[in-house]
Amino acid sequence: MQIMGAGLSGLSASILLAKAGKEVHVHDIRADSGARFDGDFQGLENWSSDTDFLDEMREWGINPDEFKATPFKEVDIIHPDDVITQAYGPKVAFRVVERGTAEHTIDQGLKRQALAAGVNIHYKSRVKSEDCTIIASGPKGTSAIAYGEVFKTSFPDHVSLHLNDKLAPGAYAYLIVIDGIGLICTCLWRKQSKSERFLNETVAWYQQHYPDLDMQPIKRVGGKGDFTINDNYKVDGRYYVGEAGGMQDFMWGFGMRYAITSGVLAAQDILGGQDYDKQVRKILLPLIKTSVANRFLMNRIGDKGMKRVCSKWMKDQKKKKDGLKFIERIFRGSIWRNMVYSTFGKAMLSREVSKDGRKFRKLPFRKDLKHDRWQQSEAAIAVGKRWDEVRKSGGKASFTEDNPTS
Ligand SMILES: Cc1cc2nc3c(=O)[nH]c(=O)nc-3n(C[C@H](O)[C@H](O)[C@H](O)COP(=O)(O)OP(=O)(O)OC[C@H]3O[C@@H](n4cnc5c(N)ncnc54)[C@H](O)[C@@H]3O)c2cc1C
Repeated sequence: MQIMGAGLSGLSASILLAKAGKEVHVHDIRADSGARFDGDFQGLENWSSDTDFLDEMREWGINPDEFKATPFKEVDIIHPDDVITQAYGPKVAFRVVERGTAEHTIDQGLKRQALAAGVNIHYKSRVKSEDCTIIASGPKGTSAIAYGEVFKTSFPDHVSLHLNDKLAPGAYAYLIVIDGIGLICTCLWRKQSKSERFLNETVAWYQQHYPDLDMQPIKRVGGKGDFTINDNYKVDGRYYVGEAGGMQDFMWGFGMRYAITSGVLAAQDILGGQDYDKQVRKILLPLIKTSVANRFLMNRIGDKGMKRVCSKWMKDQKKKKDGLKFIERIFRGSIWRNMVYSTFGKAMLSREVSKDGRKFRKLPFRKDLKHDRWQQSEAAIAVGKRWDEVRKSGGKASFTEDNPTS
């Protein structure tokens, strides 16, 4: 059996299939699993279901102890007016994992398990989709992008979620620090010219508001997200999993859990379990549709509306003594959000057909707005100059405006 893509979804599927005795070949155009990313941190969410995701992985036969995952129960929430509050709860809200080719990354943790189960992985290998049973090749188009700067710091482990429409148009920025390595990232859900100014300005913002954040930049990272709702998830006997199959969170891009889950569901179907298409529609599609509704709302509310959301979140947390409940409600959906999806959300997506004839609805990369056209502050220009110096002395950028292939 041939699988296209040795990322999260493809490797997860391969582990289950090989453990069940199938001969599995996974092909990836890149030189290694995780090479699409370069040591950036990502949040493995734990709010879209009551079951802890690491327990779910164990039940499927995937060992999460094979990669480093740092749990968080508390984060800083940065409101659009720069007020900083804390969201907290009794349960692990998410875990920070690293993407890339280092030993402790989630990509390499899955790769080791696949190899141990007997999977044959072929890197720098291009295969035709018609020769593959599972298509797990990640994003193809672009609906949004993210840029980040990785740095050394003495700051303690920390996560901030930053809701600010100027620094992160239509989206959010964040700060993550794990064991002396930090990442400041901004996500752009509207297409911009000179995109790096958003990262420079965001870094400058953090330097001003987190004065103890001593930053020694190492590299810049990033990537794109592709947000689609597919008409079918199994086409001509082929299973479309992960982001290649549209398993993404349209609101915030938390696609890792859906990618792994979809890989597992495809493998379970192949091994005689429940039908993949039906399972996606039952388990993942309701969450994805809810995220389309959330995206529709995010596109409209702007900073004023987001400030109200933040205040409501904090009030809800005070009442329930659990900040996660608010996020769970937003992500898991409601009759109201279903109505928003059917009435407005769906209409926001454009109808498209892939080269191999699959039909889907895609979230277009929106145009910029008038208020996105601003000049960088002095502090942001200094951040950009500092990065130029690091780049000249060997600092790498794995994702740039000229090369948005990640
Ligand atoms: C900057 C950034 C930050 C993110 N942050 C988060 C986060 O905090 N939390 C979260 O949950 N999600 C996050 N995501 C989304 C998450 O990374 C994806 O949803 C997830 O990786 C999708 O898994 P996948 O298996 O579909 O693709 P991947 O894990 O990317 O794997 C796809 C693989 O297919 C290979 N490939 C591509 N084309 C071909 C081809 N033609 N033939 C063979 N192989 C091919 C690629 O090289 C790659 O190895 C982020 C994404 C980006 C870009």
